[in-house]
Amino acid sequence: MTNKEIETIYEIIIKNHKEHLSSLGIKLPKLKNGDSFTMNSLVLVYLAKDYPNTKIVSKEELTQFIKNYFPDVNDVQQGRHLARQGGWYIVSGQRGDITDIKIPAGSYKLISLKKPYPAFTSHRNINFTGNFWENLKQTYHNRCASCGSPENEANYINPSATTQLQQGHMNPEKPLEEGNIIPQCQECNRGDRNRWIYDKRGRVTGLTQEALLSRIKKLDKKTASIVVKFLQEKFHI
Ligand SMILES: [Zn+2]
Repeated sequence: MTNKEIETIYEIIIKNHKEHLSSLGIKLPKLKNGDSFTMNSLVLVYLAKDYPNTKIVSKEELTQFIKNYFPDVNDVQQGRHLARQGGWYIVSGQRGDITDIKIPAGSYKLISLKKPYPAFTSHRNINFTGNFWENLKQTYHNRCASCGSPENEANYINPSATTQLQQGHMNPEKPLEEGNIIPQCQECNRGDRNRWIYDKRGRVTGLTQEALLSRIKKLDKKTASIVVKFLQEKFHI
């Protein structure tokens, strides 16, 4: 791929990002750091080739491409990171990917530049129309649904910080929209809480599918066999 091609594809990404993704809190990786391309932008550009008719790209192919710019790289993980943490709608062929789109193991595909990765959680407040957010906060007496910290006062979990109420997901695997939002302070709404599902009272009621799968992977044999037996009986499999 020539530099010109890279820049042309990046322009398409910029345009779509501005129109569809920026307001969701998805960050556009910088094209260059000084004179050289950044790895994130190269990965995104490579996956966005021929957009919207993008192809399935194997990790080997992607790594070969990246090696032209970063010769020491052996294992390019950016595809996954851009999706899970960055919010770009890139699916990867591996167990644990929460999307319904199935592609071969060890490969990636950019699905859309108009929609976020389905499980993407932005911690920015989205501007809902009308007084939805103010009203919602009032029903919680302007306190964090989970820990009760009052807005603009000392935070209960981190007393040296002032409580800022953010729009927290009840279920991080569903879109941030009415019915799936509770006010949470910056401590309760931290990124690493993405694995939890909350009820309207801000209490943890479950694990996300992704978190559940990663728990299952860690089960010991004895517990696993109990789980398997239970599932077989429950679902007649
Ligand atoms: Zn809180």
